[in-house]
Amino acid sequence: MKFATFSEILEQLEQTSSSLKMIEVLSGLFVHLGPVEARAAAYLLKGKLAPDYEGTELGMAEKAVMRAIAASAAVPLCHVQAAFHRTGDLGAVAAQYAGDRRSAGLTLPQVFERLRKIACARGTGSQATKLALLADLLQHCSAREAKYTARIVLGTLRLGVAEMTFLYGLSKALTGSKKAKPILENAFNVLSDLGEVAERALRSGVEALRRVRPVVGKPVRMMLAQRVKDLAEIPKHISGLVHVEYKYDGERVQAHVPRSGDIVLYSRRQEDITHQYPDVVQALRDSFRGKQAILEGEVVAIEVATGRLKDFQTLMQRRRKHDVEAYVGKIPVKYFLFDLLHLDGQSLLQKPLAFRQETLVRCVQESERLTFAASTATKDLEEVESFFAEAIERGAEGVVIKDAQSPYEAGTRGWHWIKYKKEYRTELADTFDLVVVGGMHGRGMRGGTFGSLLVAAFNPTTNRYESFTKVGAGFTDVELARLPKLLKPYRLSAKHRLVETGVKADVWFEPALVMELTGAQLTVSPVHAVARERVKKGGLALRFPRFLRWRDDKEPEQATTTEEIYELYESPSGRRDDKPSVRRRPKYGSGA
Ligand code: ATP
Repeated sequence: MKFATFSEILEQLEQTSSSLKMIEVLSGLFVHLGPVEARAAAYLLKGKLAPDYEGTELGMAEKAVMRAIAASAAVPLCHVQAAFHRTGDLGAVAAQYAGDRRSAGLTLPQVFERLRKIACARGTGSQATKLALLADLLQHCSAREAKYTARIVLGTLRLGVAEMTFLYGLSKALTGSKKAKPILENAFNVLSDLGEVAERALRSGVEALRRVRPVVGKPVRMMLAQRVKDLAEIPKHISGLVHVEYKYDGERVQAHVPRSGDIVLYSRRQEDITHQYPDVVQALRDSFRGKQAILEGEVVAIEVATGRLKDFQTLMQRRRKHDVEAYVGKIPVKYFLFDLLHLDGQSLLQKPLAFRQETLVRCVQESERLTFAASTATKDLEEVESFFAEAIERGAEGVVIKDAQSPYEAGTRGWHWIKYKKEYRTELADTFDLVVVGGMHGRGMRGGTFGSLLVAAFNPTTNRYESFTKVGAGFTDVELARLPKLLKPYRLSAKHRLVETGVKADVWFEPALVMELTGAQLTVSPVHAVARERVKKGGLALRFPRFLRWRDDKEPEQATTTEEIYELYESPSGRRDDKPSVRRRPKYGSGA
């Protein structure tokens, strides 16, 4: 496929906010692509050159791209700078300087390879090399091609094509319907690589993807937990034996241990966080000589003398690029293992949890930095209750109750794992992970920053962000002062086309940053949009919201869904303002 045709498709996607239309366009694209082209297209549609976990960056800032545009059009840099100043969009500027230049007919794989070359240039003189490569590429581009090339290079493409929308489109191209989507989705959950899924599907067909296995080195999307507000609800979801484990308040870590070579640790967001935990890596290396495995557990900060668990905030001091070695001593950690996904070439994903954990215990040697999550197996709710009390007493934030017979469902938040936290019991509020989509200018004391931020839940069915509340409370002064800089890269000139709200914000943002917040009541609002079609009288909104912390470990698509909020609203224990018996909680949660 010519890159010019691909650019037309990017334009069509950019111009629609309907996920149905996006699926149509994507399916029309994939029927015309071969396997290798499909891989390139999959990454470029996301404005990337590789799967997220590889962290491949083009490494060019606005200034360098302006230089490349100037060089490609043989105009002075100051003209390009002035145009950028006027429009704020280097994609538009690149198109303007391409003028009515005809496309040189580069193909999609050719452009992809050139972009990869730009990304690969490293070391001394690499900036000049990148600039020259980009200027040359732009010289071969028509206005439309130049627009999208510049945006990809800058990382500002952001078409809003959600992963699920992509997979529906691919399914439609392969089968004429959405029926292959569950197989594709499962393959994506195991491989975490849309490019790989698209290439394999086009090369070997959808059925071959049923047999997809985890690959050591490629992160598996993590299995997540549902929540209950009352332990008595457990039997509704799991019959039979459960494993009850401490819910540790640390960082979820997936460890990839190859037979030879380097161990890699992945975060929940599939970032490579190996450098943060050299002590954990060493412990794994000592334990796993010659074996190959993918394991999961929670890394938690601990007090060495007593073994007491410390909170997430303490652990986060390890999140640093420099000085890690010093912090290894200052903030000791322990890795509490609770799952085994792969061992010596065998996928264990389909094996029952009980089997996976038995195998885990057999193949890991415990040490000072490495152990197993505390757990008990039972069928008795009272025992669950008393294990929960013990977990809290020992500094855990609750328990995770797991179906002993369940497989590892990569990337799924299902009822095989159920979390129960102390906040739920003491009737403190639920917390929500919401996406910042707008802001209100601050006045008085808050001049120069934001008075409040408009936040939204994600609706995976429609691929939209539905506004839920405006949050101004809970920010420290430092946090408030930091907001304008933090949000600047996501600023838009108008409401993002995937955002649903009746609120007129002063400033709009690209849905990108996720924050955790708490609130006191759910109410029906004429301006907010959560579950509006189902509630009818208006959308659901959160009253008395309060910021707790940023969730850097979450993508916007992993925010609390509108369905989850609707279920809470409908549940007997959901705090709604039309239920007078529900009391305001006495104090806000710790956010731990
Ligand atoms: P929360 O804010 O409650 O941690 P979350 O949205 O980050 O929720 P959930 O899937 O709802 O993620 O909760 C599961 C998280 O709990 C896991 O991602 C993991 O980090 C943590 N956790 C701690 N102990 C366990 C355990 N024993 N089993 C599974 N997950 C655990």
